[in-house]
Amino acid sequence: MKAKVPFFDLSTQFKSIEVEIKSAMDEVFQNQQFILGSKVQALEEAIAQYCRARYAIGVASGSDALLLALMALGIGAGDEVILPPFTFFATAGSVSRLGATPVFVDIERETYNIDPSKIGEKITPRTRAIIPVHLFGQCADMNPLLKIAKEKKLFVIEDAAQALGAEYKPNAESQGRRAGQMGDLGCFSFYPTKNLGAFGDAGMVVTDNPALAEKVRLLRVHGSQPKYFHKSIGINSRLDTIQAAILLVKFKYLEKWTSERQKKAERYQLLFRDLLSSVKGLELPAVQYQNRHIFHQYVIRVQERDQVRKFLTENGIGTDIYYPVPLHLQECYSFLKYHPRDLPNSEKASEEVLALPIYPELTEDQQKAVVDGIKAFYKKSGARGQ
Ligand SMILES: *Cc1c(COP(=O)(O)O)cnc(C)c1O
Repeated sequence: MKAKVPFFDLSTQFKSIEVEIKSAMDEVFQNQQFILGSKVQALEEAIAQYCRARYAIGVASGSDALLLALMALGIGAGDEVILPPFTFFATAGSVSRLGATPVFVDIERETYNIDPSKIGEKITPRTRAIIPVHLFGQCADMNPLLKIAKEKKLFVIEDAAQALGAEYKPNAESQGRRAGQMGDLGCFSFYPTKNLGAFGDAGMVVTDNPALAEKVRLLRVHGSQPKYFHKSIGINSRLDTIQAAILLVKFKYLEKWTSERQKKAERYQLLFRDLLSSVKGLELPAVQYQNRHIFHQYVIRVQERDQVRKFLTENGIGTDIYYPVPLHLQECYSFLKYHPRDLPNSEKASEEVLALPIYPELTEDQQKAVVDGIKAFYKKSGARGQ
């Protein structure tokens, strides 16, 4: 049975831009140039400008963007890097890949982003960098974090994979700063399900620092300049021309798609209004300050999460869980010797979060079906807390 409301569906979007995409791809087929080239450069310029950063370097994935950013800073064996455990694996995996140690700092309960007030106690003489993650499309609380980093001379790499176009603390007088441009380097992913998604893997590193931009540019081609003369030991991590051609077409629609996502978020807020007072523990996403939240995900919190999810699945409504196990409790990190209850906000979140469908093409009827599904669950089980 096809789900009444799929958790995610790109097919409607593709149909709306199919002609343009096919013609952009055809151009690449005609040119037979498949690696880097002018399309990649055009995308780099577009993304740099969009993030209000000076430089952008296209790479093979968001995971590689993180790896290359760390490599450009010379982070490796013996170094420690501070990051939240409530994130996609790549945030920590990139650190470990280089022989450095991820040091996990708990998240804020409401935003699911790293809690800056808990960073100080984890800094040691080995700490080199902090990686805040702008989870679900909302910026981490960067001002206090940047202040600590400056005082302690630490680098900041933003994991902005879910936050292209997100803004921190805009107000009546000023625009606020864009995700990816606030730290030393910012990392983006164009994985197909991200707000700007390729037809495969792709990523980008942005920075205002010309020396770091040059390093990443070199490291993505095995440190080679000119060809076959190697200045440093890099990796092969280039952005495919065909992905850049596709992304350039889709980029034109990003602002429109983002505003559609924001409208869906507002509508959920209205649809959930009655339930909020009758269901204990139900929480909707909290927007901190007046941040520009781009709603990569719409994540609610419910105490009976697994039962709610099962009920919705049985009723044709797709949901997902980001993330069911915080990274400090993953099997591969058992050697770091963390224990349950070490980072309580992250652990509690992984038990209670539920991501609902949110994409630009989601219809009003579909959104209503999602919320009606949750209402039906609580009706059946007797609303809690009354
Ligand atoms: C998607 C994602 C990544 C990795 O990006 P890929 O392009 O899939 O390698 C890293 N961090 C976060 C928070 C992500 O959501």
